[in-house]
Amino acid sequence: MTTEPFRNAHLSYSRLSRFEQCPLSYRLHYIEKRQAEPGLPLRFGKLVHAVLERLLKEVLDDERTGPLSEERALEVYREAWTAEGLTGVDVFEEGLKILREFVREQGVVDHRDILAVEKEFRLPVGPFTVLGFIDRVDWVDDETVEVIDYKTNHQLFQRDEVDTSLQLSLYHVAAQRLWPWARRVKLTFWMLRHGIRQQTTRTPEQLADALAYVETLGRQTETAKEYPARLNANCSYCDHRKHCPAYADALAGKREFLCEDLADLEAVAREREEVARLAKALYARKEELEGILKAHLKEQDQLVLGGVRYRMFATTSLDYPIEPTLTLLGDATGLTRDELLAKLGAIDKKALDALLKSLGKKLDKPRVSLLKAELEAHADKTHSPRFWAKEVA
Ligand code: SF4
Repeated sequence: MTTEPFRNAHLSYSRLSRFEQCPLSYRLHYIEKRQAEPGLPLRFGKLVHAVLERLLKEVLDDERTGPLSEERALEVYREAWTAEGLTGVDVFEEGLKILREFVREQGVVDHRDILAVEKEFRLPVGPFTVLGFIDRVDWVDDETVEVIDYKTNHQLFQRDEVDTSLQLSLYHVAAQRLWPWARRVKLTFWMLRHGIRQQTTRTPEQLADALAYVETLGRQTETAKEYPARLNANCSYCDHRKHCPAYADALAGKREFLCEDLADLEAVAREREEVARLAKALYARKEELEGILKAHLKEQDQLVLGGVRYRMFATTSLDYPIEPTLTLLGDATGLTRDELLAKLGAIDKKALDALLKSLGKKLDKPRVSLLKAELEAHADKTHSPRFWAKEVA
């Protein structure tokens, strides 16, 4: 598919990330200006953002200091839910949980510590203006601000994703322009579903690199001759999936390329990449369809559809408490407690992470980080081979 070059009215992080993720989606959205049909996750995320914005703006308007009111948070949420016209008890409950956790995690809020909510910025970058809105900026001390971006993602980011996020780099530069006295900028993804703040900082070199990348990517969006579809795990949430021939073909199981000679490594790799992209899109579609069936299975024991019976089963996992387990094993084997611990005694990472998370509320964060580093230094690491593939420029 080709198009005439066009000029961006402005750039934004969402424009750039859309182009990076799928050029066709960019073309449909910004060049052809097709009507977007956002899926539930996007609408839900926007709704939660709007609720938090309103709660914090009320704190600023009333010049309040104290804990947020959970009752008020849930009231604002219910109003926003009704106005947005969302349905689905599961998602509604998720929102309630997120807001309760947010109120708890926020603790006492002092209006003087919130510098801005949903703060607009305009950054000149080369020939472009980058437009954006920062969810929230807090005062930390006389030299530091904290830029906060709320996320409703189900999964936490990997460390390197936080450390290289283009969005956070842009927000850093914007915050320094808006609050020139701030010599330090803390950057935070507030992961609302987890009650965790993933934090990072940037060096001047990283910021310069990020701006150079933004300018380059901006030029690419304007000079691209083609905007190919790039199937990915988010296709089932894509707001233009209904207009996307590649997604329709993927759902219909259509294939473009079949490797006929398995000794031809170029062909093997080409088919592998096509299958990997299809698999991501199809797996996400399977999750979407299963989500619908699971929602119905909350109301009835089983569904029989197209000759297939669907049911939900409770799975059982067993945890053995240390003391009685060691006693029973010791009695049966004659091994000492220390011998048994040496054979059995590795602490599960998940349990340890949960403990550290709960400690995070009692100890200060640097102490917890240090503890984590010390524990990791003592941990036994096992490495297993893993197939890795990444596009090269
Ligand atoms: S459905 Fe997927 S491939 Fe199609 S436009 Fe959207 S992101 Fe791109």
